[in-house]
Amino acid sequence: MAEKLSFFEKVNTDFDRAARFTDYPRGLLDQIKICNSSCHFTFPLKRDDGTIETIHGWRAEHSHHKLPTKGGIRYSTLVDEDEIVALAALMTYKCAVVDVPFGGAKGGVQVDRNQYSPSELERITRRYTYELIQKNYIGPGVDVPAPDFGTGETEMAWIFDTYATMAPDKLNALACVTGKPIEQNGIHGRKEATGRGVFYGLEEVCSIAEDMKPLGLTVGLQDKTVVMQGFGKVGYHAAKFLMEADARVIGITERNGGIYHPQGFDIEKVAMHREETGSICGYPNAESIENPNDGLEWECDILVPAALENQLTAENAPRIRAAIIAEAANGPTTPAADAIFQERGIMIIPDTYLNAGGVTVSYFEWLRNLSHVQFGRLGKRFEDITQNTMVRAIEKASGYKFSDEERALVHGADEEDLVNSGLQDTMIRAYHELRETRMQYRSRNTDMNCRTAAFINAIHKIAESYMQLGIFP
Ligand code: NAD
Repeated sequence: MAEKLSFFEKVNTDFDRAARFTDYPRGLLDQIKICNSSCHFTFPLKRDDGTIETIHGWRAEHSHHKLPTKGGIRYSTLVDEDEIVALAALMTYKCAVVDVPFGGAKGGVQVDRNQYSPSELERITRRYTYELIQKNYIGPGVDVPAPDFGTGETEMAWIFDTYATMAPDKLNALACVTGKPIEQNGIHGRKEATGRGVFYGLEEVCSIAEDMKPLGLTVGLQDKTVVMQGFGKVGYHAAKFLMEADARVIGITERNGGIYHPQGFDIEKVAMHREETGSICGYPNAESIENPNDGLEWECDILVPAALENQLTAENAPRIRAAIIAEAANGPTTPAADAIFQERGIMIIPDTYLNAGGVTVSYFEWLRNLSHVQFGRLGKRFEDITQNTMVRAIEKASGYKFSDEERALVHGADEEDLVNSGLQDTMIRAYHELRETRMQYRSRNTDMNCRTAAFINAIHKIAESYMQLGIFP
């Protein structure tokens, strides 16, 4: 299979494979697949030393079948139109897979953030936002960005501030971007949401004995060996939650190298080491490698690519020694590698499902911003009182005295509890939906993997929404 396809062509290869299992008219499938609109713009940046540099930015809105459109903003030297359109398309399918009512979008700026000072990054971000406003590519009901590779809460706060300064409807301006800091009306749990979603997804996948057996794995996450590629926002949080569930994170790679320890790492300590030294490399008692790509080939139960696209290719796929590939990153596996993994019986948990935790909690943040009330605020105290009253009644009737530990578990749900429970429910439901599709086709002797099943579900949902508009028969 050709590896020379562009990223968007690779996404479309996955789409076409799934579309063959549906009987929608070609025109409808084409409408779903095509990118509805995209724009490329340039602007000057005055650097701290007084020189002027031209910055390239993009935003793509892949599908307007639901509004607003939604998708992260990426800062990376690899950003170009094809990458942004491909990532926007993946957002469309991802939102459909987890029933988040948005169309897909993505944005990017072609910079390596490490080469710019904080004030230069602020100027880039504010000007990028200004360009989006001018071109009508941002707004609470239009298109809502979020963090992605190379951006985080700080950039989202600058985007919000720039938009709010110019917004005609300031009341809802809060909902123009998600992934904001808590102090700027962000939501508890968003920072860790994608990593937490990866963990919930893997927990569910590994809980099904029937699926673990053919992979030669036991049920549950306990003692599963994990290799993480990328230790950024997604990789760090996914690793942390997996470690807390007693999985062993034995390998971690970053752009400048990797570390390995067969007993597994204490993730907080690795993060602390990076904070102190600027790198995960040189972590005490760990085996270090210089080329991060070598780390992808470490033997493990679960390999988690959490960096960039096109990492697992026809070239390295035959040497990958994992039973499960958990796509925390977007597009880490090329279609040619996919085919090799399928043949080798390696299970792929696709990006369109597994990293949907970020957009799910972004949806909650957007709803919270539009409703102007923190989740749990109205009911928490009331729930506290009723639950404590119930505990006292049980103690009185039974004579049993709850310990302080047990009592501590009895409390009304606060925002973070509600967000995490909504996220967990979303990840569990979506997995069973895609698994059901996979099993349905497998029982008809088709070679169905989780990626194709997720695409089939997404196509059905998007097609339905177009058909409700009466455009297609
Ligand atoms: P990030 O910038 O916080 O972290 C990415 C990390 O990967 C960085 O630490 C970087 O140094 C490292 N890296 C880069 N090249 C590498 C290589 N060759 N080998 C090993 N490590 C390498 O970005 P992030 O937000 O964690 O995003 C990671 C991936 O997850 C991207 O594909 C992104 O699109 C996807 N994703 C992110 C979110 C989100 O909420 N942030 C949501 C869904 C999907």
